[in-house]
Amino acid sequence: MNRIVVKVGTNILTTANRELDLNNLRQLTHQMAQVAQSTEYELVLVSSGAIICGRQVLNITCQSIPEKQAAASVGQPLLLKEYSLFFNQQGFHVGQILLTQDGLENPERKAHALDTIQTLLAKKVIPIINENDSVATDEIQFGDNDQLACQVAQLIQADLLILLSDIDGVYTQPPSTNSDAELISTLKELSPELLTTLSSTSIGPGTGGIKSKVIAAEKAAKSGIRTVIANGRSSSIILDIIQNKPVGTTFLPS
Ligand code: ADP
Repeated sequence: MNRIVVKVGTNILTTANRELDLNNLRQLTHQMAQVAQSTEYELVLVSSGAIICGRQVLNITCQSIPEKQAAASVGQPLLLKEYSLFFNQQGFHVGQILLTQDGLENPERKAHALDTIQTLLAKKVIPIINENDSVATDEIQFGDNDQLACQVAQLIQADLLILLSDIDGVYTQPPSTNSDAELISTLKELSPELLTTLSSTSIGPGTGGIKSKVIAAEKAAKSGIRTVIANGRSSSIILDIIQNKPVGTTFLPS
């Protein structure tokens, strides 16, 4: 059995009007259901997007951390409702798990989280994981769930981690300002030179930028998990990655 963790970032769940992008949510859910239907794969989803859902309802700009936490608290059930609807249409139930950094550092809680995920997977339920944003701020502030996705992949000893963003992968330079930036197809060692060129800010509603994804990807690869950063707006991206097609930036496990 191959275990796959898919992380869906804020940017690909957001429309130009800064609302939840239901079309993209639907197409991603469709792909993930296709994977989970196979007896070869178990799939765990780590999803951002709660703040986007909540800010829409509360009509707030979410400048401060407490505002973001409040928006996440309102948005999380709304986001799960949409996932649940789409996955139900494909024959799956979903289970919500909210984690925090200190929870994952506590051996007992970590073991409980693993038990829950494994029990859900055994029942063919799709676990949907997010940071517990109303009590923790690590991912709201710094990571947009990239680090959390890496930790979850390590926890369940995943074979593959897919970090989906709104960009085709990691470029040699910021692609929005450098027309000669080149897509890096494979990374084995992350050089300090490349790391310094990577931006830690997002031009969209996300947080963490490409830097947080690359750091998380490298960490996962170093623990033996093949990791791919790829464009979640491409309609067959998850299936392409599973079939080893040359898409995105792959971090080879070491
Ligand atoms: P998400 O919300 O999907 O997690 P982020 O906005 O946090 O994504 O980070 C992805 C963004 O990082 C891309 O949209 C891209 O414009 C920007 N970026 C900056 N430098 C690079 C680079 N060298 N390679 C790829 N993307 C980059």
